[in-house]
Amino acid sequence: MKSLKCPKCGGTLEAIMYEDIEVDRCCQCTGIWFDSSEAENLKRLKGSEKIDIGDLNTEKATETLDATIPCPRCHVSMIKMLDLDKHPIWYETCPQCQGIWFDAGEFKKFKDNFSQPKLLSKAMRVFRFKK
Ligand SMILES: [Zn+2]
Ligand SMILES: [Zn+2]
Repeated sequence: MKSLKCPKCGGTLEAIMYEDIEVDRCCQCTGIWFDSSEAENLKRLKGSEKIDIGDLNTEKATETLDATIPCPRCHVSMIKMLDLDKHPIWYETCPQCQGIWFDAGEFKKFKDNFSQPKLLSKAMRVFRFKK
């Protein structure tokens, strides 16, 4: 398989495996590419945040906020998504192949956002107690 190019910095994406799921991580900026359901599957796996080795550079993230980045697989412009959870993050998703691009550090936050239901039920309990 031909190696993919990073849509952000042009670096080479290298395939990394976590359990049975293969994702592509940029060897330069450490952003991560997930094919369609991989991000959903991975965020359910314990310890999967280890694949996200970079730290989120917010300064750089805002810099690229206006730029459209192409899907590394189908080369169409990706759609910017805003996840306004515990950690607000911007990520890109491809309208064609449904792949998702996370900048370095974003997958960790994406996964952490997913653990919200626990906090929510705790908040609901507090609410009930007050009533
Ligand atoms: Zn890169
Ligand atoms: Zn695509």
